[in-house]
Amino acid sequence: MKIQLRYYGDPILRGKTLPVAEITGELQRLVERMVETMREEKGVGLAAPQIGRSEAVCVVEVPPDFDVDEDGKRANPDCEMPMIFFNPEITKYATDQWSMEEGCLSFPGINGPIQRSRKISVRYMNSNGNQVERELNGYTARVVQHEFDHLNGVLFIDRMSPVRRAALSGRLKRLSQETLADMGIV
Ligand code: ZN
Repeated sequence: MKIQLRYYGDPILRGKTLPVAEITGELQRLVERMVETMREEKGVGLAAPQIGRSEAVCVVEVPPDFDVDEDGKRANPDCEMPMIFFNPEITKYATDQWSMEEGCLSFPGINGPIQRSRKISVRYMNSNGNQVERELNGYTARVVQHEFDHLNGVLFIDRMSPVRRAALSGRLKRLSQETLADMGIV
């Protein structure tokens, strides 16, 4: 069963999430529903605040065709998808950055180029409750940076160039007003 998404303007997207102490049965079911929702919405990642939750958890599923480096080889051959991240943090960013067009399920129809590190080191708890440390590369590293940002209340528009953001300002304002109206806040 799909969960209702939260859209830009909803204050929960700006909140900071709280660490998960223990992966309960309820959290396992929540993660399963997050994966189903991500797939139905045709996204490659989904973070808890996007479905109105404040736990530090996100899910990522990059199709194998997208997980490739410049030579067309698998960028992260040992990555099993979907990836589930509890209490994640990025411990190292490579200085090498690249730009690519990004979108977000909480911003329907809005996108823009974002600079991100090509390679990162991450630390997190997986769905078995085990502590994992590993490197991620390329597009998968990009998606993970986008999702981890959500857990800190950071949105992709915050990382856009001022020019792109200014060009989108009217649409962002409209989306935010619609969201608040739907929520009965204004
Ligand atoms: Zn997003």
